[in-house]
Amino acid sequence: MIPTAPKLVVGEAGIRLVYRRPEHAEYMGFGWGLWSVTPTGDGWSQAERLGTAVGFPDTPYGVVNGKDGALWAAAHACAYGHPVNGGERVTGTPSRRTFSKHAVSEDAVLVERVEEPAVAHKASTPVSLRTLAASSSGRTPNPAPQSLATVERSLARDGRKYELLFGDLHRHSAYSKCLAANDGDVVDHARWARDVGELDFYALTEHMEYMSYGEWRWTDRLASLLTRDSRVLALHGFETAIPPGHTNFFYVDERVGEAVRVAYLSSDRLEDVWPKLDSWVPEGSVLAIRHHQGHGQANVAQTFAPRYELLVEIIQCRGEYRGWADRLLGLGLEAGFVGATDHAYAAAFPRGLTGVWAAERTRESVFSGLRARRTFATNGPKMRVFLSAFGVGMGERGTCHGAPDLELEMEGTTRLDRAELYRNGKLVHVEEIGERAATLRWRDGNAPQGRAYYYARVLQGREHGTFQPHYGVAYTSPVWLHIGAEAAG
Ligand SMILES: [Zn+2]
Ligand SMILES: [Zn+2]
Repeated sequence: MIPTAPKLVVGEAGIRLVYRRPEHAEYMGFGWGLWSVTPTGDGWSQAERLGTAVGFPDTPYGVVNGKDGALWAAAHACAYGHPVNGGERVTGTPSRRTFSKHAVSEDAVLVERVEEPAVAHKASTPVSLRTLAASSSGRTPNPAPQSLATVERSLARDGRKYELLFGDLHRHSAYSKCLAANDGDVVDHARWARDVGELDFYALTEHMEYMSYGEWRWTDRLASLLTRDSRVLALHGFETAIPPGHTNFFYVDERVGEAVRVAYLSSDRLEDVWPKLDSWVPEGSVLAIRHHQGHGQANVAQTFAPRYELLVEIIQCRGEYRGWADRLLGLGLEAGFVGATDHAYAAAFPRGLTGVWAAERTRESVFSGLRARRTFATNGPKMRVFLSAFGVGMGERGTCHGAPDLELEMEGTTRLDRAELYRNGKLVHVEEIGERAATLRWRDGNAPQGRAYYYARVLQGREHGTFQPHYGVAYTSPVWLHIGAEAAG
C-alpha cells in the first residue's frame, strides 16, 4: 500500500526520509507505523520501521532530531494491544474520543525516542512511492499469500458468457464513527481497494446518520473517481439504522443518491422508505441488503420490500449467518446471498467477499448481476461456485416435475473439503471432495411436492497467511423451485 506523509529529517548523521504506512492493511486496519529510508549514494537503504507505536488513522505526526543525536517522534497513538517498548506514554494530554468498543483501549499522545543509526550523507537519487511500498512490505506482520490457485473466472450458460468478479459490499471508514481507530479515511479505502485488496468491485457503506452532507458527497464522488481511474468498480451506497435494523443501500447512478438519502433521513421506519423510493427513483436503480447484526427480528417480513431487497448478507467478518438467512427465506422471501466485511477488527473472519457472475466488467453489470442474485458469498477466499437445479441457475426460480437433479460446480483456492446441499434450510446431502475442483451431480429423490429452495455450502482448506480463517467457506445463492408431480408416461 502506498506510503503517505513523507518528511525529510536532517541530522548530524545525514538525511532520513520518514513516512507513514498502514500497519495492518492486509487485515484492513488503517492505523499506521512510521518507516524510514536513508540515501546510500546509489539508491536507498532497506526501509526500517521506527519505534513500535501504531498511529491513529488520518492524524499527522512530528519528527525531529534531538540534541542527543537521536530521532524523536510524536503522534496520536492507537493502543491496539501492542506493547510499547522504549516509548513513553504521555497520558492526560488531549485525547481523541472514539466510539469504539473494541479497537482502542487507550487514547494517548505517544512520544518515542528512536536511535539514529550512523549513515553517511551522500547525494540522493529519486525514490518512488512504489519502491517504498515494496521495500517495506517484507517487514509487515502478514506474510504474503503463497501458491494459492486462481479459479476459472468465466462461465458459459444458455448461450451467454459471464465473468466472475469479486468485491466487498460493506465497509466503513472513519466517517461512520464506529471503529474510527481502525477504519481509516475514505481515501485509505480507495487505496486499499486498488493496491491491497485486489478487488473487482467495492462499496463504502458509511452510516448515513453520522455523516455530514459534505462527507457523503465526497464518499460518493470518490466512488466515481475510483471507478474511472483504476480497475476497481466502486458502487455508491450507505448504511441505514432505523427499525427494524441495519440495511445497506446501493446505486450506480450518482444522481439517484440524493433521493435515496432524503428517503432515509425523512423516515423513522424502514417500511416508510420504500413508497418514497417508488415515486422518486427509476425502477431497478436501487438495491438494499440487510445484515444480521444490530437487526431487530420483529416485523422482518412486514418490512421486506422484494423489489429492492434481492439479497441478504449471509457471511460477514463476525461469522456465518445461515440460520438468520433461512428464517427470512422460510417466510417466503426470495433473497440471494452475499458476503461482506463490515468492520474487520478482532473478528472471526478477516473479511467477507461476494462473487458476482457479471455479463461485463462494468459497475452497471455488477449491479445487474447483484439484482439478478447471480451471486455467492465467501469468508475471504476467491472460490468459484455455481449451483443449478433442474437447469434453473442460482438466483432464479423455475418449475420441475419429479425429483430435481442438482448440479454444483465448485473450485477452491486450496483443496475442497466437502460440499453440503440444503433444501428449505435443512441439510439433505453431504459429499466429501478432496480435490481442488469438482462438479457434483445429485438427485433429490425425497423432495416433497410444492415450493422448495436449494443452496450449497462449500468448504475448503485454510489459505496461507496469518490472518486467514481456519477454513474457507462459500454459499451459493438459492435456486427456487416449484416441484410438481412426475409427468405421466
Ligand atoms: Zn450495521
Ligand atoms: Zn456496517
